[in-house]
Amino acid sequence: MASRPAAIPTILEGTAFYYLAEGAANIVYQVSTPWRQSTPEPSLVEEYGDGTPPPSIIDDISPGPLEENIYEGKSFSHRAPCYIAQANWERLIQPLFPPHQLVGQALLDIQPGHIVAKLNEDLHDWENGKNPTNGSLDPTTPRPTKRQRIYLADDNHALLVKDMTSRTAAFQQLNLVEFKPKWLAQSPSAPQYSKRCRQCARMARINAERARKKEPPMTFYCPLDLTSRKDEGMNHVASLIVQSGVSNCQIKRFAQWLENTDILDNLKARQIELDQIGVLRGDVNDERLLAAMTLRDCTVFVKCTSADNREWEARIGDLDLKSKDKINYWRGIEWSLIEEGWYEGLEDYNDRQPLVCRLSRDLSGT
Ligand SMILES: [Zn+2]
Repeated sequence: MASRPAAIPTILEGTAFYYLAEGAANIVYQVSTPWRQSTPEPSLVEEYGDGTPPPSIIDDISPGPLEENIYEGKSFSHRAPCYIAQANWERLIQPLFPPHQLVGQALLDIQPGHIVAKLNEDLHDWENGKNPTNGSLDPTTPRPTKRQRIYLADDNHALLVKDMTSRTAAFQQLNLVEFKPKWLAQSPSAPQYSKRCRQCARMARINAERARKKEPPMTFYCPLDLTSRKDEGMNHVASLIVQSGVSNCQIKRFAQWLENTDILDNLKARQIELDQIGVLRGDVNDERLLAAMTLRDCTVFVKCTSADNREWEARIGDLDLKSKDKINYWRGIEWSLIEEGWYEGLEDYNDRQPLVCRLSRDLSGT
């Protein structure tokens, strides 16, 4: 059973919340605290030790507004409470990477001030077309239909995560890139003579389904290209990752970052070392498999920190440990990719998709 840390900072009175976004399992708020003049409790600093670049919550220890943090509240009551999620992260994920490669996160006690109730009241107001009573939202558009009637869970804690959003307008356009690198190495249970990696096989299957429905194909890049160090295709990969409307020059700079960073090599190495069997025969009670699947679905946030697009800060986030309840879903996908021939490029003739994976290109020498 996860133990709770000795010292959990408490939300300060007067902290303002502002809704930023919501995802499958959480709602993200930006938080801004009033100036704080008190001396920090030493236990907070000691928790992270000497020589460890502190997560952003430590920023709050020096007097100043807490603008570098994001509050993340769990939106489903059946999900693990935040203190369990944090304990999992500290036990299984945090040791895998140097601190500067992770989106720092810390527990925050949010019991004072009935914050969850107030934020939920605003979500209700939003759905009912009213002005939010507590001002945590500026509802210019209706709440997405599929998110309606989903509210923050009654959790005593929230996760405070490092703010990787960019508010520096001067850089314009390419100041923040976030992407999911997905499976950077082949699935251990893929057939020996595969022509597609796990992600390319999955995307081929999805696009065949879309073609049957007369829908346009989804664009994607091969994750193996990200660490291939074969720079001929990196500009193309970079252009698929960044949003449209970015200049060629900026795409080139981002491609150069991709070629030179080691964060993706680290991520790939951890994915390989945590799961060498694959989901079909892997032990779902082995937390290392769950950690591997978590790393195969994480997000990399890359923030430009200089006006000339030459300096970047990159961190890995979205690292809530996957639930073992997903094992049948994962196995179902893997079976269909193998059985229907997607890995080997032997899919049904009518569903045939292009072979664009790095594996195919290496085989054909292109
Ligand atoms: Zn591929």
